Amino acid sequence: MSGEPKQNASNPTSRRRFLKVAGGVGLAGTAALGTWGACEIFAPKQPKKQTGNTHRSICNLCGTGCGIHVDMHEGNVVGVRGDEQAHNRGLICVKGEMLRSLPDLSGRLERPKIRKDGVLADASWDEALSLVAERFQEVIVDDGTDAVAYYGSGHLTTEVSYTAAKLFRAGVGTNNVDGNARLGVNSSAVAYAQSFGLDEPPGCFEDVDHADCFFIVGANPAACHPTLFERVLTRRDSKQGAEIVCVDPRASETAMVSDRHLSITPGTDLLLLNSMAQVICAESLYDSEFVERHVAFNDGTQPVTFDAFQTFLESYRPEAVETQIGIAAERIRETARRFARSQATISLWSAGVNQQADAVSVANMLSALHLITGHICRPGAGPLSLTGQANAAGGLRDAGALAERLPCGRQVENAEHRREMEQLWQVPDGTLSPTRGFGGMELFEAMGDGRVKAALIMGANPARSLPNSARHRKGLEKPFLVVVDVVNQTETAEFADVLLPAALWIEKQGVFEQSDRRYQLLDKRIDPPGEARDELDILFDLAERLGHGALFSARSASDVWNELASVSKNTRYDFSGITHERLRDCQGLRWPCPTPDHPGTSRRYVAGDDPFVRDSNRAENGGIDFYGQADGKAIVFLRAPNEPIETTSEDFPLQLTTGRVLEQWQTGTLTNHIPELKQASRDGHFELHEQDATPLGIKSGDRVEVTSRRGNLVGPVRVSTAGKPGVVFAPFYDAALPVNTLTADHLNNSSGVPALKLAAISVKKVTT
Ligand code: SF4
Repeated sequence: MSGEPKQNASNPTSRRRFLKVAGGVGLAGTAALGTWGACEIFAPKQPKKQTGNTHRSICNLCGTGCGIHVDMHEGNVVGVRGDEQAHNRGLICVKGEMLRSLPDLSGRLERPKIRKDGVLADASWDEALSLVAERFQEVIVDDGTDAVAYYGSGHLTTEVSYTAAKLFRAGVGTNNVDGNARLGVNSSAVAYAQSFGLDEPPGCFEDVDHADCFFIVGANPAACHPTLFERVLTRRDSKQGAEIVCVDPRASETAMVSDRHLSITPGTDLLLLNSMAQVICAESLYDSEFVERHVAFNDGTQPVTFDAFQTFLESYRPEAVETQIGIAAERIRETARRFARSQATISLWSAGVNQQADAVSVANMLSALHLITGHICRPGAGPLSLTGQANAAGGLRDAGALAERLPCGRQVENAEHRREMEQLWQVPDGTLSPTRGFGGMELFEAMGDGRVKAALIMGANPARSLPNSARHRKGLEKPFLVVVDVVNQTETAEFADVLLPAALWIEKQGVFEQSDRRYQLLDKRIDPPGEARDELDILFDLAERLGHGALFSARSASDVWNELASVSKNTRYDFSGITHERLRDCQGLRWPCPTPDHPGTSRRYVAGDDPFVRDSNRAENGGIDFYGQADGKAIVFLRAPNEPIETTSEDFPLQLTTGRVLEQWQTGTLTNHIPELKQASRDGHFELHEQDATPLGIKSGDRVEVTSRRGNLVGPVRVSTAGKPGVVFAPFYDAALPVNTLTADHLNNSSGVPALKLAAISVKKVTT
């Protein structure tokens, strides 16, 4: 049947072979660029530079958060090397090595700018921040506190996100506090909270070393989390019988080296997972003792029985859904058996799951497969969502910088949580608004229709990253817009009334949290260029000018961290035992970590590891306690797919999916300014399957016009024989090919994340 997956050889794959295969799939040629070849994923291990000093640090680009050594000479960065003691085991990818170029990045923003007569002109900090404070105050007086907003980023330090959230919630008095995690990972955050009662994953990166089945869905870690994926390959190649299963419509770099590639029809992930669950139940592959002790079932409105769950699954028998999924029934069965029968299965997923219409249900169901098979809460087993940004977890989720969230799992709409935060922040009762703020796309809608009249955007580039961008860019035209960024030119800066220069990487100090609840410290080593400042200083200055300086007695990154750590106390996030000083002496600590001598928690909900496991559950319940739920049982939901909103038609017969490439980070704001990375990734393009290209007379190198229901775009094409016919891929890093002009912006009901992974399109060759 169409879309029958390619089966890769399961014999061991050497790292070198992997690099070669991956290089041949989507990367550039083999011409040497600096110290590494353009086809290579990892920087070669470098000797320590003989002169100067070396400092331990982290790469704060992707959610892997690799440990690094920074070699310095006379105050300059002269080299970056992987830290052998860190979880990345000395490896860094090409982006990490090019961190050494960041301090000299071209196009750095070095002075504040104010728009005058339509043009951004240099200004002093005093002029710029006085104007910001004045305009914000005017809006607050004239239109109320909810007419101002903050939009942050998973690339800011935890301390910055926490301070911004505190300023806007407790100072200004609005919950219009959100950030770009709303464009993706919030779906997984909501799903974890629904299933376990608490956000963030149960397991950790070290589980990779113990797994023998890697179930990778909607993620391409070979390109997006390369050092972690190298660890996956190392385990697969050293453990007899270990297997990588990749679920992805694309023949991604990950799929190409997987043992089993399920090239599903885009958007059918939930059908596949339900079908796998049906097989697991029908063939009695579930762990009945684990289910009995630790799992509850719920149809979304009320508790139901395990029998009811199995009845619900009947309509997902593989034969009933194989045509929709595009995978033969027997292959679905084999995959389900592989998942259930392994010694330890770990699931890894990312934006491909988070950015679809049924995102939360898919993430729920991933956890459900682990719960019914008992592949959780032991080494090598568990559902582990991968965050794309370096601090999407700590900065936006833990610090309370999403519209509905106060710090450390507290909720805006919960009066007790608000009262608790008012006491911790020492502000009068009733200071915190009970009204949930605008989240993500709602915020930009509100800017467009005038409900939000002034906004501060920090470390994000929504003018390019938002789906259906032409529509939402209109929203950016209207409010008084303050943009804090590190480079002069971004699409968002084009709308700024005030543009403020920020420090990056080791020009500032702060804590980042990786995908597995691991906090790591980034220490300041060099000064930012020109007049650029740490975002923390910018926020303190703005707070003073807005009359809220008294809220902030902690004024250093370390002190702000200590305040947030104390706010985490008495919550299940408790990281009050973590300090900057402790982090400086180690390769990170995972919370919960409630005391200064606690070693951190590798696996949550497990007695002897997680300090919150209740005594009553230690012995009689196998030492597992899903304490986020009152009865100690995690919830498996009965989740049926919703009717798709974005469908193909005669006018739009193909499906567009977007993603990242190895050499570029996010919208390329930093990495596309680095010549070696820019050259290696080449220009943005559309990747079209040969079966779709040939009838249209299209070949590699042609230019095509791609049209969706939201807009059209012209760009170069690469024709491929791999992957699924009918699916077109485009990376989103290249400003010259802003693919979010085409993507869809309907939201997942639970998480507010747009379903931008899938857009119906037409393609035609451009002949002139
Ligand atoms: Fe590691 Fe990610 Fe940085 Fe590459 S970009 S060095 S994988 S943290």
